[in-house]
Amino acid sequence: MKDFDGKVVLVTGGSRGIGRASALLFARRGATVAFTYVGNEAAAEETLKAIEAEGGKGQMMRLDVADTQACAECAEAVAKQHGHIDVLVNNAGVAVDGLVMRFKDEDWDRTLDTNLRSAFALTRAIARPMMRQKSGVIINLTSVVGEMGNAGQAAYSASKAGLIGFTKAVARELSSRNIRVNAVSPGFISTDMTAGISDEARTALLAAVPLGRLGTPDEVAAAVVFLASDAAAYITGEVLKVNGGMYM
Ligand code: NAD
Repeated sequence: MKDFDGKVVLVTGGSRGIGRASALLFARRGATVAFTYVGNEAAAEETLKAIEAEGGKGQMMRLDVADTQACAECAEAVAKQHGHIDVLVNNAGVAVDGLVMRFKDEDWDRTLDTNLRSAFALTRAIARPMMRQKSGVIINLTSVVGEMGNAGQAAYSASKAGLIGFTKAVARELSSRNIRVNAVSPGFISTDMTAGISDEARTALLAAVPLGRLGTPDEVAAAVVFLASDAAAYITGEVLKVNGGMYM
């Protein structure tokens, strides 16, 4: 199905994990996919090759999403180059863990700037072209811990809970211009972000997942692309859980 033919999609953090899987699925469905990477150029090139192998059109851009000015320039460059921009996926994120009483200011700021302020900066920049074209979809990657909290992840949980409030507020603000804003809330997904979890913590986490396994990046990407598609034309302000039942 090539239902994204002619559409332009911007995915942040597309060189690996959920961002990469989403970029590939959008490409497979016909979209032109601009995706960002922050440091690993080789991984980004690999994603670009994979997009092209799907017969898709891709574009890689270096962007530190914690830099608001750079976010604005990136969004404006994509909109200008293609003449329109149809989907923004705010996927890039970091998990800096630590108990709150020992947590450092700079780690708090890095987490909030990367996970939350980035979505604000990119949304602000992209709202103008989307309002002009009277259409668009924005999808924010939140997290199960933004919904239920997690000990040792106060900053990460706060950033992800913030994204849920942000999603709902902007959904209300932009709905009159036919711009939909939704969030996808993954549970425990097999990516680099969860690769460092100890066996003991992994066993405990899996015991809390009714489906009894980790999710895959492709399973999250399927939800992202669904929300971006016309099949979700009447869905806005929603938080779609992809968590194997971990939090209902
Ligand atoms: P990942 O660590 O594999 O990928 C994160 C991506 O964000 C990478 O491409 C990385 O380069 C990019 N990134 C990090 N800091 C950046 C910065 N300053 N500027 C630009 N890009 C930056 O993680 P993932 O599991 O694929 O996570 C994708 C999103 O899904 C994140 O927002 C994450 O919080 C969220 N999420 C993941 C899980 C999980 O279990 N893996 C669960 C819930 C939510």
